[in-house]
Amino acid sequence: MSHLSVAKFGGTSVANFDAMTACANIVTADPNTRVVVLSASAGVTNFLVELANGCETARREEILSAVRTIQYNIIDKLQHPEAVSNEIDALLAHITALAESASLATSAALTDELICHGEMMSTKIFTQLLKERDFPAVWVDVRDVVATNNHYGKAAPNDEKTQAQSDAVIKPLIDDGKVVITQGFIGRDDEGKTTTLGRGGSDYSAALLAEVLNANDVLIWTDVPGIYTTDPRVVPAAQRIDTMSFNEAAEMATFGAKVLHPATLLPAVRSNIPVYVGSSKAPEQGGTWVTRDPQPRPTFRALALRRNQILLTLSSLSMLHAQGFLANVFGILAKHKISVDVITTSEVSVAITLDKTGSASSGADMLSEALLDELRQYCNVKVETDLALVAIIGNNLDSQAGIAKQLFTTFAPYNVRLISYGASKNNVCTLVQNSEADDVIRALHLALFE
Ligand code: ADP
Ligand code: ASP
Ligand code: MG
Repeated sequence: MSHLSVAKFGGTSVANFDAMTACANIVTADPNTRVVVLSASAGVTNFLVELANGCETARREEILSAVRTIQYNIIDKLQHPEAVSNEIDALLAHITALAESASLATSAALTDELICHGEMMSTKIFTQLLKERDFPAVWVDVRDVVATNNHYGKAAPNDEKTQAQSDAVIKPLIDDGKVVITQGFIGRDDEGKTTTLGRGGSDYSAALLAEVLNANDVLIWTDVPGIYTTDPRVVPAAQRIDTMSFNEAAEMATFGAKVLHPATLLPAVRSNIPVYVGSSKAPEQGGTWVTRDPQPRPTFRALALRRNQILLTLSSLSMLHAQGFLANVFGILAKHKISVDVITTSEVSVAITLDKTGSASSGADMLSEALLDELRQYCNVKVETDLALVAIIGNNLDSQAGIAKQLFTTFAPYNVRLISYGASKNNVCTLVQNSEADDVIRALHLALFE
């Protein structure tokens, strides 16, 4: 088969009629793009999460009307609004009913069922936009393809089942010359219930579909023309990185560079699928290619920032010369499905960072009282919040003289709460106050990249 690309457009790229038109121009101009994965229009998922968490009648009506306005602002500019308005109205009615249920009792499964509607609506509208150009677009419910476990809010895909369903549902359409328009972010479990892959998960969906379709590349169209040395919103002097490795991009995404969902690189690495990141508003500006082994690999590649981190410090005198303490602690964390992030230890204590932002689609608090109670049976537990994780990402950071001096000199004016250096040759991580995080990033960027 000829070159096959999977293109993904994020929330701002499908936020309004003009943004969607720019996406349609990209899709129709590129004969290789045969599968298009969309996010919900910007703002819609946040509104749906609020509904799913349960709200008062007045607020519920306010949100429902805001969501309706976002979608109808686009629909009203179509040549044939009537071709989709019935379907959108049905989806809006469904949202209303689910939101009423959520205001009585919330549940993780209900949340996923509710928040999938953002992607359902954006894809219906975009398909119509393309059809009005006589383009062979066909809408597919991605839940018929992406199979997952039932870990609502952060479901894990079932690769084999997804492969089989993609072969049955998507492949014949592509072979027939159609261009498939489908949803990111969502899937379906074995019981037939809707699941989500976690906030920002549409990038991951695109990479998963690219893998099962044996695609040549994944094109992530977003609101920045590529991956930068750090978030260009925080540091305007950040520079675009033209080519970078899977490994470097995975580190950046893991440590908070929102431009890619952290799991996006998993299928890409597994199946060696290059990932391109570019701006849907300005495709002519070019972008970043993420591939297996591009050269050169600079010592310092990028800076990433993850706000809202939790620091859990567990200490116990019985840890002194004892065995099994850490095994117990990690056993408890695993039981509560807590993914441990950065760790530092001393003889009688261990400090662990947890990523609040990486939690479920609902944004539910990850530190439950049950977990804390269980930990308190073993040790003293101290919980600190309002921290941010700053990651310096690069290559061979562990085997060059002078790295520590360079970084520590820059940290001088700040209260650094924790440093992790040495476990990875690709990153050095520090924890700082949320309020100082932007300044730390700017100081590091000035010292290492400008
Ligand atoms: P989308 O809705 O298209 O998925 P996101 O908002 O999730 O877009 O991701 C794009 C945003 O990622 C950019 O607007 C930018 O602020 C942020 N970002 C964070 N770090 C980086 C980086 N290193 N390079 C580029 N963008 C970054
Ligand atoms: N719409 C979802 C979110 O806002 C998924 C995505 O945009 O990637 O998190
Ligand atoms: Mg995103």
